[in-house]
Amino acid sequence: MPPDKFPPRVINTLAKRVGFHCSNPGCGKSTSGPRTESDAAVNIGVGAHITAASPGGPRFDRGKSQSQRASVANGIWLCQNCAKLIDNDSSRYTIDVLLQWKQDAETKARVAIEKPVLGVHFQVAPELATRRRDQIAEWRGAVVAEKYDFVDCRSKFLSSEIYSSLRPHLLPEVIKKIEAPRTFYIGGARGDNVRQYTLLDEIARIERQWGLI
Ligand SMILES: [Zn+2]
Repeated sequence: MPPDKFPPRVINTLAKRVGFHCSNPGCGKSTSGPRTESDAAVNIGVGAHITAASPGGPRFDRGKSQSQRASVANGIWLCQNCAKLIDNDSSRYTIDVLLQWKQDAETKARVAIEKPVLGVHFQVAPELATRRRDQIAEWRGAVVAEKYDFVDCRSKFLSSEIYSSLRPHLLPEVIKKIEAPRTFYIGGARGDNVRQYTLLDEIARIERQWGLI
């Protein structure tokens, strides 16, 4: 195995973690499909290095060990074009940019496997759909009405019935953000109540996942 290639196990894991799609948000191309022979598949994906495998390569980090350079943590799944692109312009495609692409692509893949396939919600019993719609409206109303970033309101909210009914449906990273003692202002047009708009986004995601919109 050439030293600049990841081990097959790592390549396989990188591809699967993003559902075999290119992790460049501007591309997102599928990287695998059938070959003419019925027992083979085409792969146009590449396990690309976030920091180069060897000195002189793009984004090389001398602080990393050989095994860190060859680990899943140092790889990103891309189509062949995007893999070339990031290595040809490493000052534009920095380590931070690639880590963000990777994180977003993995989140997208997770949401995709949690989301019901199109049409499934038509099979949901009408009473269930109504209950879910009422539940969404109740959560949304409670979150809109309160300002949960203040210390008192935050603990009040975390111990409320509303939150205990909502919590099992939240993504793990959202729970972490909501329950962190300090959630920092990260900017944006919707004001500085990070908890409130994180919860509203998450309720909208659950609404989509339940096939209500
Ligand atoms: Zn691509």
